[in-house]
Amino acid sequence: MARLTLDSVTKRFDDVVAVDGVSVDIEDGEFLVLVGPSGCGKSTTLRMIAGLESISEGDIRLGQTSLSGKRPKERDIAMVFQSYALYPHMTVRENMSFGLEESTDLDDDTIRQKVEDAASMLDIDDLLGRKPDELSGGQQQRVALGRAIVRDPEVFLMDEPLSNLDAKLRAQMRTELQRIQENLDTTTVYVTHDQTEAMTMGDRIAILDGGHLQQVGTPLEVYHKPANRFVAGFIGEPSMNFFEMEVQGDRLVGDDFAYPLSEESRAAVEGSSHVTLGIRPEDVEVVEEGDGRHEFETVVDVVEPMGNENNVYLAFSPEREHSFVATVGGMRSVESGQPVVARFPESAIHLFDAET
Ligand code: ADP
Repeated sequence: MARLTLDSVTKRFDDVVAVDGVSVDIEDGEFLVLVGPSGCGKSTTLRMIAGLESISEGDIRLGQTSLSGKRPKERDIAMVFQSYALYPHMTVRENMSFGLEESTDLDDDTIRQKVEDAASMLDIDDLLGRKPDELSGGQQQRVALGRAIVRDPEVFLMDEPLSNLDAKLRAQMRTELQRIQENLDTTTVYVTHDQTEAMTMGDRIAILDGGHLQQVGTPLEVYHKPANRFVAGFIGEPSMNFFEMEVQGDRLVGDDFAYPLSEESRAAVEGSSHVTLGIRPEDVEVVEEGDGRHEFETVVDVVEPMGNENNVYLAFSPEREHSFVATVGGMRSVESGQPVVARFPESAIHLFDAET
């Protein structure tokens, strides 16, 4: 069993707190994606798990065993880097078998078999005799993965492994990596700054900002029940729309519109003088005519066609720039300059503490 536990892990570089009291339990066989903007502490967290960076406070355990004091080679963990880190003078076969020859006492036949099994899983059987400079980026990436797989570790750590691939290959490798991880059932921590990668790949997603863990949950949980405004804005594309509102009795009042609240929502804002109202672009309904509740007169500023749908950027008056975006089905034709009514259904809004 390989449950990986981060227990109040903190990392300080002089006066920079790169990772601040992060606690998370990664289940045996789970695919956890660590996501957040550049500089939020993702790589440092991964490097502490790998043993490449010391921990300032807290503990990391694999099963019941603390990893503190264990050198990287003594940890049953394999890391895949963004740069692939292949040895240029070695063939694919040598690159994949090198770690095993170094760190295990397996016989040559067993090592050959492990390399061939991994090569076949990754569809690189034909490339075993080549050197890295005779491979495409995608193929090099597979070799780097193969090198981790042959070690049959308790944990895979992956640091932005797809970021050097073009968009099409990246999408293809996303599903392939998931398939391989599911087959091998190896506990995996995968770092990315790309929320699409996080949403599509993770069993669960851990969102970091400024070294702090903001939320851990399934993709659906973090999407539908974001813990705070940061998570709400980071997950989802286009990003959630936000409006700063003042609480005035049974309604919220902002610069551009007032929003009446049901009793339930009123309870949620009780005690606050200001809140942030959030609504996802796909939850904004663009209607011809309605009953007037939660609906606002707007003007289409820009239409961004996305193929099967359009991102429609809306302004509260023709003289102004757009202030929010609605995702509208591609068959609906809306044009720049056209007046439309936008509705924010109360069941779809999110309320957050106001930004101070
Ligand atoms: P991410 O991987 O999310 O981009 P990092 O974990 O690389 O973030 O970095 C987190 C913070 O720690 C950043 O502010 C970064 O500048 C700082 N940092 C990382 N490594 C070092 C180091 N070796 N020395 C000093 N500061 C560092």
